[in-house]
Amino acid sequence: MAKDGASGYADLYESSLLPLDEGNEPNVYAQVIVDVPAKQTNRPFDYVVPEELRAWIGIGSRVGVPFGPRTLQGFVVGLSAKSDMAAGKLKKIEQVLDLVPPLNPELVQLADWMSRTYVCHEITALQAMIPGALKAKYEKMIAVADRPERIDSRQPSDGEGQTMLFAGSAEEDAIVAFVRQKSAVSTEAMLNRFPDSGPLLKHMLEQGTLVEVQTVKDRLQAKRILYVEPAAEAEALLEHSRSLPSNAKRQMEVLAYFSENPEPVPLSELSEKLNVGAGTVKGLAEKGWLTVREREVFRDPYEGRKFDRTSPLPLTEQQREALDPISSSLDKKEHNVFLLHGVTGSGKTEVYLQAIQQCLDQGREAIVLVPEISLTPQMVERFKGRFGDAVAVMHSRLSQGERYDEWRKIGLKRVSVVIGARSAVFAPFANLGLIIIDEEHESSYKQEESPKYHARDVAIQRASRHGAAVVLGSATPSLESFARTGMRSSDGAGNEAAPYRLLTMADRVEGRPLPAVHIVDLREELKEGNRSMFSRGLYKAIEERLHKKEQTVLLLNRRGYSTFVMCRSCGFVVQCPHCDISLTYHQVSRSMRCHYCGLSQPEPKTCPSCDSEHIRYFGTGTQRVEEELGKLFPGIRVIRMDVDTTSEKGSHERLLTRFRNKQADVLLGTQMVAKGLDFPDVTLVGVIAADTVLHLPDFRAAEKTFQLLTQVAGRAGRHKLPGEVFIQTYTPDHYSIVTASGHDYKAFLDNELEMRKMRGYPPYCELALVTFSHEQVPMLVRAGESFVARLKDSWQRSRHKTEADRSPYDASTSYFEVYGPVASPIPRIKDRYRFQCMVKYRVGVDVSGMLTETAAAFDETVRQEKLLISIDVNPQVLM
Ligand code: ADP
Ligand code: ZN
Ligand code: ZN
Repeated sequence: MAKDGASGYADLYESSLLPLDEGNEPNVYAQVIVDVPAKQTNRPFDYVVPEELRAWIGIGSRVGVPFGPRTLQGFVVGLSAKSDMAAGKLKKIEQVLDLVPPLNPELVQLADWMSRTYVCHEITALQAMIPGALKAKYEKMIAVADRPERIDSRQPSDGEGQTMLFAGSAEEDAIVAFVRQKSAVSTEAMLNRFPDSGPLLKHMLEQGTLVEVQTVKDRLQAKRILYVEPAAEAEALLEHSRSLPSNAKRQMEVLAYFSENPEPVPLSELSEKLNVGAGTVKGLAEKGWLTVREREVFRDPYEGRKFDRTSPLPLTEQQREALDPISSSLDKKEHNVFLLHGVTGSGKTEVYLQAIQQCLDQGREAIVLVPEISLTPQMVERFKGRFGDAVAVMHSRLSQGERYDEWRKIGLKRVSVVIGARSAVFAPFANLGLIIIDEEHESSYKQEESPKYHARDVAIQRASRHGAAVVLGSATPSLESFARTGMRSSDGAGNEAAPYRLLTMADRVEGRPLPAVHIVDLREELKEGNRSMFSRGLYKAIEERLHKKEQTVLLLNRRGYSTFVMCRSCGFVVQCPHCDISLTYHQVSRSMRCHYCGLSQPEPKTCPSCDSEHIRYFGTGTQRVEEELGKLFPGIRVIRMDVDTTSEKGSHERLLTRFRNKQADVLLGTQMVAKGLDFPDVTLVGVIAADTVLHLPDFRAAEKTFQLLTQVAGRAGRHKLPGEVFIQTYTPDHYSIVTASGHDYKAFLDNELEMRKMRGYPPYCELALVTFSHEQVPMLVRAGESFVARLKDSWQRSRHKTEADRSPYDASTSYFEVYGPVASPIPRIKDRYRFQCMVKYRVGVDVSGMLTETAAAFDETVRQEKLLISIDVNPQVLM
């Protein structure tokens, strides 16, 4: 840790640190969770906080601690004046990694809650909260041994020209001096300085003059640049200037500049402004007239971009009615969860913006979560436009460095609004007033790797600790959220006891109509001899738009529409040899790839099964649609947006800007085009095939279809010009398609709730999914069955206990059912077979506790047999 240059930050630490004294005794002990995700280390360990580090360590600090023979990164989760361990046995904290603790006491508690709820190690939860750049990197360094017996340690003030008595050679002497000056040096740096010293170094290590130490480093450092500032008052500078020889024109200019502009300025900027070299500045610094020092700067992903400042719009009546309850909740600093159900184009964003304004006026902070995919420049612009530099933006398209810097601004209290994807929910604010989750139904709010958390639940946890409001916004709320408002779709009555409060905005702003939707039956098209992927209706509509110079959005949902390779003679489909799934064709590289294990192989020329040459790729990729558009409408300008065209940094933004500037007629893409876009000249939306999601083995398939269609249809006619939508489908009668075309959320809800109730799925129960994987099936079956038996047993025991405690007047029934084990929908990935069991239960059952306990009984098997058990509480994906 660099302690110099820290003084400027002093006030900031104070506010982020806990009081160091508890009574009169200082907190000399810290409880630390170390960076080893294992059961044995899933608890805090006590360490001594050395005197000199005491001022820098708070709850949430990252530290380097000795653990066994190594130094590990850890998080301080507690501080105390006493320890149960004998003081002599405790080790000392070696390093503090940040000037400001990256987490705070509330987040540390949240990690504890996450580890219990999502059945993961506490360190895994803590690590999930910080940006990737802060994940530990360990480095071997060389240091001078503690007892440098042979050395007379008269500390030299700088590395060169020092005198040092040493019984060894002059070279050894120089090495010791070099290392001591730097306190620890990497082998690499050492060999840079003393290129031929390899054997000597080894000798010194063996002898014990030097030792190897492991230190914790960040993957990334704060960016530092050189700043220049005057070291004297303007008068004195001018005085100095007059004492210079008359040919020192450049130096005089610099002094004159600083006599008028005393603020620090980056060296590069100064050089450019005055056309002076670094040597000139150095000369003045050596005279003691200027000071040059390193300063941390923030990499700003939006540097140089101007955001037009916008003022609050006068609200429509329904916006006012939605904002009022949120506003009074903020006033009272009460914790409430609101579900804002507003149709596309109803003006939800303006409601968010005004709620945030109120929150900021109270001196509190706000987090806005949006799905990664809709974190478009347009969205960012709206927030930057209203709140300017108070906004930090966090999304995965930023470089690691940019993300790290945006995140540091939060800890340093430079910003009070964060807008970002899922993990922005962990923004280390200390005074949260509001969390907004836009498009709350999106599945990307669930993290699919451990910790398998849902940002919505984490947001509510955090908000409840801060007395903050949560606003969940969507045109198509998830069934789970809607059910929590206590409303059945048909009756309008609210339920006082319901955890969420429903706010509804049923109309678009300024009475703009929702677009007219046509359902096109693709089977009919085929019967009529149309083999194109465009129905006649959609074709005509596109033609019309080209004529009128209006724009079109085309959605091709690739999921489930994979571009697999099939033999037309025998029906053979090329599959991954390691995973039971078909390979996907990539036209650019003419290769076949597995989306699960990354295997890549050339496309086959003949069928591996029957030798036929009629083997070719199938399915409709975005590229094929683009080609066909070009054939049907010569000269048409198409922007294609899919994983292939948006992998490069900034490409997503560039494509959208081009479309907005009307440099294209059609925006064609995958789900990316469905969300959040607001372009005035888009009057036509076409869905190439609506049923691709409908047939996935997932109980949410109908819900996802409804949501996607409603969202993409919502892109049309949002401004002055009216919109029109074509949905092409093979199942025109399915209720999710029919209700989406009528913009009828309530009708969809009634149908879907009926289905869920019949089949016993959320919101009528909660789910947990346990997946087992192993290289051998018999082992897997044994483990799976024994797991299920134990889990059921655990339920029996806990139920008897709860029933014994229950009052005779309590009529609530608890529900718990385990299904399986059965083979997973994808039965094999990377040569490992997969089985799963599903737990259905109702709120009040401690399913996480039971799963933790059951899984613990398998620790031994997991370790010895390389069995993997993965637990997903409230899963979004059931594969
Ligand atoms: P949603 O997020 O609900 O789909 P938006 O927030 O994008 O809708 O709003 C749709 C359009 O209506 C935007 O162009 C927005 O600028 C405009 N708008 C929102 N509120 C108002 C208002 N009170 N007065 C005028 N225009 C508004
Ligand atoms: Zn074949
Ligand atoms: Zn594979």
